[in-house]
Amino acid sequence: MEAKELKLSGQETERLYDKNSHLKEFEAVVLSCEKKETIKGEAAGYRVVLDRTAFFPEGGGQFGDRGRLGETEVTDTREKYGIIYHETVTPLEPGCTVKGRIDYDVRFDRMQQHSGEHILSGLVHSLYGYDNVGFHLGEEVTTLDFNGELTEAQVKDLERLANRGVFENVPVQVLYPTKEQLKSVNYRSKIEIEGQIRIVSIPGYDICACCAPHVDRTGEIGLIKIIGCEKHRGGCRMTILCGFRALSDYQRKQQSVTEVSVALSAKPERIGEAVLHAKEQQGRLREQLNRMQQLYLGRKLEELTAEDRNVCIFEEELDSVAARNFINSAMEKCGGICGAFIGTDETGYHYILGSRTTDLRVFSREMNERFQGKGGGKPEMVQGSLMGRAEEIQEMILKA
Ligand SMILES: [Zn+2]
Repeated sequence: MEAKELKLSGQETERLYDKNSHLKEFEAVVLSCEKKETIKGEAAGYRVVLDRTAFFPEGGGQFGDRGRLGETEVTDTREKYGIIYHETVTPLEPGCTVKGRIDYDVRFDRMQQHSGEHILSGLVHSLYGYDNVGFHLGEEVTTLDFNGELTEAQVKDLERLANRGVFENVPVQVLYPTKEQLKSVNYRSKIEIEGQIRIVSIPGYDICACCAPHVDRTGEIGLIKIIGCEKHRGGCRMTILCGFRALSDYQRKQQSVTEVSVALSAKPERIGEAVLHAKEQQGRLREQLNRMQQLYLGRKLEELTAEDRNVCIFEEELDSVAARNFINSAMEKCGGICGAFIGTDETGYHYILGSRTTDLRVFSREMNERFQGKGGGKPEMVQGSLMGRAEEIQEMILKA
């Protein structure tokens, strides 16, 4: 039967997770099992409908539950017209009773993220009047989009207040108010929903229409950490981690801080300062090195005479700007080809050649052919890289 027909015949799946979000195992009767095919007609598992289930289907920014049904694996759960479909690897016999078991670690992690999101969205709404206009509970992080911008200080304050909500260990209530009762409730996510509206209330923090399973008490959420809040589509996008995800993030970051702290011999709380200091020092050293290179190349230039027609230097390390400056100055003094080769025989050389008398495009083509090189440029200046022995390269240049 089609989903719509099942719904019309009153066969909507009974949602066990609505009454008990911590239910890990259950028994149910298989109502139907259909084969799934890809567009190309290849087998793509099965779609199983049960009379009741603890598997939460994909919806409202959250992925569907995974787990097991009897001997088969449930890879995803989806919903259509109130019917919940379990996507399985192998088929199940309609009419049979099966044991279901959800992947509770994944589910509990998602409940931590989702309940944490409610607390933050509720606080943002009550303190600043912004609505949550986007929610995505991903495998790594959870993002919340608001239709207003938040300052750094507001974000910090929100984080502290949200965690206070956790430490107060507030009971999370699920309510099914009548249409009449609903009129007097000020809740978030007001959309026209047919039938019964499910309200998730965290007294003092949030009240919102939501169909997803939540923790029973806010203490189960654990730490709520905001790891980023950037401008997004006229409002902002907040990235959060709750529970074990926040703990793992803290552990990773502590590891990084320790590594930097050890490497720079700085106290963990002062690594920011230490990194800036090291960067300054690096800048000074680079300037110093440049001065030394200029001095060194200046001496080399002094040694050149007009009789040195072709000139080349080989250096393991040399700043490319300093090398170009050297070539420009050497070209003033000598009439032939001036070259700088940076590297070693083993690693190969990066080269720059200059000349006012020889067409270097022709010469560098010959040189590249002989030394497996590549590169090019203008007739008066070329650059590239090649492999070869310094002696042989020098010989070729001097003979040119
Ligand atoms: Zn929700």
